[in-house]
Order: sequence, then C-alpha cells, then structure tokens
Amino acid sequence: NLSDKLTDSFKKLRGKGVITEADIDATASEIRRALLDADVALPVVRQFVSAVKEKALGATVTQGLKPGQQVVRVVHDELVEILGGETRELHFAQRGPTIFMLAGLQGAGKTTLAGKLAKWMRSENKRVLLVAADLQRPNAVNQLQVMGQRAGVEVWAPEPGNGVGDPVQVARTGVNHAIENGFDLVIVDTAGRLGIDEEMMQQARNIREAINPHEVLFVLDAMVGQDAVQTSVAFRDGVGFTGVVLSKLDGDARGGAALSVRGVTGQPILFASTGEGLDDFERFHPDRMASRILDMGDILTLIEQAEKKIDQAQAQEVAEKALSGGLTLDDFLTQLQQIRKLGSMKKILGMLPGVGQFKDQLDNFDEKEVNRIEAIVRSMTPAERRDVRLLNGSRRARIAAGSGTTVAEVNALVKRFEAAREMMKRMGGMAGGGMGGFPGM
Ligand code: GDP
Ligand code: MG
Repeated sequence: NLSDKLTDSFKKLRGKGVITEADIDATASEIRRALLDADVALPVVRQFVSAVKEKALGATVTQGLKPGQQVVRVVHDELVEILGGETRELHFAQRGPTIFMLAGLQGAGKTTLAGKLAKWMRSENKRVLLVAADLQRPNAVNQLQVMGQRAGVEVWAPEPGNGVGDPVQVARTGVNHAIENGFDLVIVDTAGRLGIDEEMMQQARNIREAINPHEVLFVLDAMVGQDAVQTSVAFRDGVGFTGVVLSKLDGDARGGAALSVRGVTGQPILFASTGEGLDDFERFHPDRMASRILDMGDILTLIEQAEKKIDQAQAQEVAEKALSGGLTLDDFLTQLQQIRKLGSMKKILGMLPGVGQFKDQLDNFDEKEVNRIEAIVRSMTPAERRDVRLLNGSRRARIAAGSGTTVAEVNALVKRFEAAREMMKRMGGMAGGGMGGFPGM
C-alpha cells in the first residue's frame, strides 16, 4: 500500500549523510509511482511531486534534521497542504436550526453518517432532527428511522402532509418542523444511485435549493479508487457541496481518494468515517491524515479518543516513554487496562506508529489473547515487569504456572514486548528530537 511504498523509499535515504539532486530525483519518482498506484489523480500527483522536489532541494542545508528526515518532513508538509492545510471549521447557523444535507452515491455511507452526526451532536446537548428525503429505495426511510432510534433523535419521514413520495417536499416540511419546534440541527438524508445520473443530480439540486443548507456534505467511499475523481467532479458540478466526508477509511484504501478529492474539487474534507458503528467517525485533520499516510501513527487521535475515557497526562507520559525506548511491562499492563476502555484493541493498535507493517497480525487479533497477556504480566513480580532481563528459565516456568499458560506463551510475549519496545524507540528517534520535529504532532 501507499504507506509501505513511501516508507520504503525513505529508508533508502535514511543512512545518507549528504543527499544529492540525483537522490531526490530517485525518491521523487518512487513517490510518484506510489501515489499513482494508490489511485491518486494524475494532476494531483504532478503538482505534489514537483512541489516536493523543489522544497527538498531547497531544504537540504537546514540544520537540526538529518538529510533523510528533512525529505520526510517535506513530504509530510506537502501532504498536509494537499489535504487542505488547516482543519476547516464547520458552518453553523447564527440563528435557528443549522441544516446539513447529505449527498453521494448509493452505498457511500450517507444514512450511516446521518446517525453518526446525530449521535455526536446529541451528546453536545443539541436537538437533532433527521429528515428522510431518500424515497428511492423501499427500505431507505426505515433505515434512517433505525439510525434515529440508535442515536436517540427524532426522524421526519414522508407521510400525508409531510410530502408523501416527493423528497423535496419532505425536506422542506422537515426543515419547517425544525424551525417551528426549536431544533438545533437538521440532517437531510438524500437518495443516491449506483451510478451518476442526471435525474438524481436534479433531485439533489432541487432539495438544496428548497432548504438552503449551511453544509452540503458529499459522502465519498474511500475504497472506490480511480472513480473517486469522476464522482466528485460530477457531484461538484451537479449539486455543489461545501465539504467532503470520506467513508470506509477503515478498509484497505490508505489515502488515494483522500489525496485526490481535495485537489480535484477544491472543497475541504470535513469528516473521516471509519466503521459501521455510530461512534466510528472523527473530524478530519489534514496533518494527522498525512502522518497516518506516512505510517507515523496517529498519536494525536489516539490521545484525543483517550481523553474521553483516560487520564490524559498518563497516556501522554506513556507515549513519550514508549517513544524514548523506556517502556516497561508495568506501563504495558496499565495501558492494557486503560486501552480496554477504548473498545476495540485492533483499532487502537492500528493507530500506533509502525503498526502498519503488522497488519496481517492485527487482522488475526484476538481479544482473548489480551486476557492471556494480562494474566502473564500479572503473574510477574514488579521487578520482573520493570526489567524483563531478570526472566530466567525457572522464573518463566513459575509465571506460566501462575497464569495458567505455557512457558512458550510467556517466551512469545517477552519477545514481542521487546520487539515492540524497539520499534517504538526507533520511531521516536526518526524525527530527530522525538515526534516534536513534525508540526501538529
Ligand atoms: P447510503 O446508501 O449512502 O445511505 O449508505 P449507507 O449508510 O446505507 O451505508 C452502506 C453500507 O456501508 C452499510 O452497510 C454501512 O453499514 C456501511 N458503511 C457506512 N459507512 C461505513 C464506514 O465508514 N466503514 C465501513 N466499514 N462500513 C460503512
Ligand atoms: Mg441511505
């Protein structure tokens, strides 16, 4: 994938004391190939590669970073730029309800997003109304009603008086209902087709004109690859939108669509959707996405999610300790317990630096395994947790017996822990003085 390819091309630069123009040329053409393979649109690739080349050449003499790191930094900064630079604030109404309209192809994730946005805003004590203006598929209204139930918000559906069979009427009466009843946010779900067609565009345009939304969110399936560009342009010209939501970023696609859509349409990416659950989405931050594409992990997102349920100072302390190579099994145990609160281990691990290369193992990740790991660490003495070098054969046998596991399992855990500690340490060393060398990290 894109991350692996970029990481590989940087590895070749890492050892070099001096970087020549030829080195930069070689790296630039590898980056070019990696981006094209990831379905990034050609004009975007061209602009990106030429900017990287120019900046890398101009930057080789800057102090503080090693030459290889300098190039990584240039690529990172350029990725941030192409993804939109600053995080764009959402547009809310000054008075009366804010109106969000969702648009996109069928299956893109609009209805799911409606539920996610509703749950999120409800948790901020906003009164949310979902409006079912997708009358194309028989089950669409029902699906939105289920979302509304899960998010705990009201749903406005087609009925006599609400405009049966006419999506524009349903949208209009829904917005009026929200105005009259003091709702804070109206989210209008619309129909999509499997392919782009003029009738669908016209309908979405009519809805837009009838309700004059503060945001039109174009939902784009990040897994679609090459088609992303064509679809985005069709929606930009056919309906018009103020922001993009990338969905299904939990799949294999690692940024190809994301990298093109902003460059091609000029509109910012506002949200990233990462699963089917109502909590599986986040605001889109260009700098974090860039780091994720470069496989440097997404420590900030990790910490942000952790903030909700975990002591922030402690999480940061452990992250710093990990990156400087000082992780002990005691920290590991504390983190294990904290991390459990965050839900899926797999998702959390996926955000840690360097874990991309262990994707297969992650896919086989088993929560029960975590229980065995915890049992093993608990059966160690505090001294053993601080320094695994103490673990000789007889101690390992004692731990295996105490935790109801085998010596082989204890050995495997120790080995993996040491490898993880090494990996974290290497990641921490990459950017010169820890991760601090990168803006926004
Ligand atoms: P719509 O036709 O645009 O309204 O799309 P839906 O919201 O009905 O979503 C289509 C399918 O994609 C459903 O099965 C959703 O559960 C799934 N889906 C939506 N968003 C995501 C996402 O971010 N990740 C994953 N893995 N699945 C998603
Ligand atoms: Mg739908």
